[in-house]
Amino acid sequence: MNVVNPATGETVETYETDDEADVVTALDHAESTFESWRKRPQRDREELLVSAAEILRERQSEYAELITREMGKPITQAESEIEKCAWVCEHYAEYASTYLEDEYHPSPAGTEVKTSYEPLGPIFAVMPWNFPFWQVFRFAAPNLVAGNVGLLKHASSVPGCALAIEEVFRDAGFPENAFQTLLVSSDLVEDVIDDDRVKATTLTGSGPAGSAVAAASGERIKKSVLELGGSDPFVVLDDADLETTIEKGVRARNQNSGQSCIAAKRFIVHDDVYDEFVSGLVEGAASLTVGDPTDPETDVGPQASAELLAELHDQVERSVAAGATVETGGEPLDRDGAFYPPTVLTDVPDDSPAARDELFGPVAAVFRVDDESEAMARANDTRFGLGGSVWTTDRERGERLAHEIEAGCVYVNRVVGSDPRVPFGGVGVSGFGRELSEAGIKEFVNRKTIWVQ
Ligand code: NDP
Repeated sequence: MNVVNPATGETVETYETDDEADVVTALDHAESTFESWRKRPQRDREELLVSAAEILRERQSEYAELITREMGKPITQAESEIEKCAWVCEHYAEYASTYLEDEYHPSPAGTEVKTSYEPLGPIFAVMPWNFPFWQVFRFAAPNLVAGNVGLLKHASSVPGCALAIEEVFRDAGFPENAFQTLLVSSDLVEDVIDDDRVKATTLTGSGPAGSAVAAASGERIKKSVLELGGSDPFVVLDDADLETTIEKGVRARNQNSGQSCIAAKRFIVHDDVYDEFVSGLVEGAASLTVGDPTDPETDVGPQASAELLAELHDQVERSVAAGATVETGGEPLDRDGAFYPPTVLTDVPDDSPAARDELFGPVAAVFRVDDESEAMARANDTRFGLGGSVWTTDRERGERLAHEIEAGCVYVNRVVGSDPRVPFGGVGVSGFGRELSEAGIKEFVNRKTIWVQ
């Protein structure tokens, strides 16, 4: 696997991939480690997660630099990503035993009936490059503390991150093979799913990859969780506080250089505030600092690869050909590296890529609406259903509309985020199942009924 630094286009590292025999060995280890790991007291497992959090904080700079080198995330955002991983470890260290407490049910006199939450075994995670630590930790922390063991197939562009995550768990004192990285291409994914020792799968990534993993899992009667793309609406009502809404809108679209499943992608703006909002959004986007991701002053780094940049630009060009207007940006930067400027598109036709598909880069599509009901119709005019936000000074109105948006989460006056304390996941083609919080830790456990007469 060759690691290409997307800021320079240079190959910076090469890793040997694992072959089929390595995969079989890893599965043997996973199975034997699970047998002892599941019997470890819950408290021990929680303490190891606290150690993992400490290691992440100690090595924050080192790991942030690795993220930046492999996928181009601006360094301050990479540092925040490592901190968030420490948080999810601490969250599950604190709450796992509450989340997994036995649940007692009404039962006939003299009997005791309860549900216990028991681990399933080795869980296989296929993960993407965009939050190369966070996406893995939000899978690993709840699953390891619940007594499962983890196998990771990370995106081929971030093998260094994949190995570093394995190192965090090892150095924190987890058993040697409680969390293993397989450096394999996606061709071997189906073989891993096929193995009887793998009990369930989870994937974060694109729709086609999700379909492939869910289909292979379903064929073998294995549960899967899918966290796929999104085209989140950002609904600006006539009574929104525009100054704040513009500032948050710029951030919501351009965080992680626009490569986030929960980035605001479709800005749906009431006619009364349309002109002011659009001019603020354009000004904000144009004023972001695009460039060297190792510079702490940089807001937007390169796209994660030249191929992803080409795909994004093709979507923009097809949207423009269909009638969209470029208000700012719209052309790759003429320099080394995969740089695309923050871009704002207006007059976006309904059937263009910017309206229909996910644009995984810093490109905002803006739509004008006349009233609330048109805003809701537009917000729901998508196959995706990951997140959404509503901007209004009337909190009750915001909450009422939050119920109308078909998505896994809707935030009122707040940028959509993922937070260890609340469930995260989508509806529609954004996937199924939930990560994080109590919902996330209960995805891959056996909810066992025990009836004692
Ligand atoms: P992919 O979905 O292709 O990659 C995500 C993971 O899935 C990687 O580990 C990849 O491995 C693996 N994978 C890819 N194809 C298959 C397959 N057929 N069977 C099993 N595993 C597979 O994302 P890309 O990097 O290609 O990005 C393409 C688009 O996906 C983006 O533009 C964006 O729209 C979406 N995406 C969404 C993310 C999200 O957070 N929901 C994250 C990343 C991407 P390998 O790297 O070896 O191909």
